[in-house]
Amino acid sequence: MTTYLKQAADLDQNDQLKRFKQAFYHGDEPLIYLDGNSLGMLPMATLQKIQHTIEEQWGKRLIRSWNESWIGLQKRLAAKIANIVGARQDEIFIGDSTSVNFYKLAFAALNQQQGKHQIISDTLNFPSDLYIIQGLIANTFQNHQLTLLESKDGMTIGLEQIEARLNHDTALLSFSHVLFRSAFKYPMLEVNRLAAEFDASVIWDLSHAAGAVPLSLNSDEAHMAVGCTYKYLNGGPGAPAFLYVSKAMQEKIQSPVWGWFGHAQPFSFDLAYHALPGIEGFAAGTPPILSLAALEGGLDVLLEAGPDRLYQKASQMTRFLQQMVEEELSKYGFSMASPADHNQRGSHIVLHHSEGFRITKALIEPDGKAPVIIPDFRPPSFIRIGMAPLYNSFMDLYLLIERLIQIVEHEEYNLFDHERATIT
Ligand SMILES: *Cc1c(COP(=O)(O)O)cnc(C)c1O
Repeated sequence: MTTYLKQAADLDQNDQLKRFKQAFYHGDEPLIYLDGNSLGMLPMATLQKIQHTIEEQWGKRLIRSWNESWIGLQKRLAAKIANIVGARQDEIFIGDSTSVNFYKLAFAALNQQQGKHQIISDTLNFPSDLYIIQGLIANTFQNHQLTLLESKDGMTIGLEQIEARLNHDTALLSFSHVLFRSAFKYPMLEVNRLAAEFDASVIWDLSHAAGAVPLSLNSDEAHMAVGCTYKYLNGGPGAPAFLYVSKAMQEKIQSPVWGWFGHAQPFSFDLAYHALPGIEGFAAGTPPILSLAALEGGLDVLLEAGPDRLYQKASQMTRFLQQMVEEELSKYGFSMASPADHNQRGSHIVLHHSEGFRITKALIEPDGKAPVIIPDFRPPSFIRIGMAPLYNSFMDLYLLIERLIQIVEHEEYNLFDHERATIT
């Protein structure tokens, strides 16, 4: 372990992004936070932005703020997200949750693919997306069937598995670009090309990818995507999600939720709906201004650090962790539940241990002087380590490994029960 200690110190020393740790809020408690893929940390800039929006805009200017500041906010943020995902500003809508945006796109895609009945996804996908598909089939598209691809190794899905099920009856493929369970990253361009051969639509869920891996939706020939902003984009709890529809696809599909903010002239209060053309037609109701203001703080710090440097560090971090896991942790019963090839994964690593749940508890509530370490747990026995290159250090990873060894060697997990809190 001593060589790793030195290595961690050296890597931190040469880390071009190390100053960004101070761009985030740190409380008094010494804390190693490895759960940025569930809820990103609070950027300091966000505190000021929220304060300003509340006091100066809402407080003093009231309704006048709509024209003075708020009406252009979504577009300004869309341009920033577009930069991160490799799309044009007029292909990004920001608002609503990822789940609701996924509903809009899945409905629109199925509606456009009349006469085709198959929907393909996988058993490692984020359940909310699968629930929405089930709801669409139960309520609206009753002749459709959902085919779920099963992973052979519990981590990855092969292109050949998609190829085997894809046919001219396939309407829609729905995949997370980076799987929340295993961190496996689908080869986006290859999947899109495969689907295009059968004229099937693809919706990508970028929630575990945006801010963690390089994205180029336009050049990867993606036409529809959704994503979350409260993870690696540090937008805050329940931050508004984003939705992407390529210019070409905008000509073909329409949002199923016809609200006044998607109307061509919302303030004419017409009784009949006339959709705004383009991406803005995917808006439904009033944008959440306070949450958008918070999101801007997160996007700004990420763009300032530079997405390329960020992805480089993220990949370096997952490789460093992998090496320590393989060489130091396997004898303690831990194994990698993420792909071994770093080109095939996102910025988190999933570890398996039969005592995974109680080990997670021991990390979060240490007895004595050990640091508090917050990872994330997924049943039945997986510990997820989210590496956020903006604020995590290589030393954080070294200390995690040291603690994991200590907890297992001293059977510290026996101090904890098997009871689970509501959100872990
Ligand atoms: C976190 C996450 C979501 C979040 O959905 P919300 O509706 O915004 O809560 C969706 N999909 C994936 C893959 C996620 O990881």
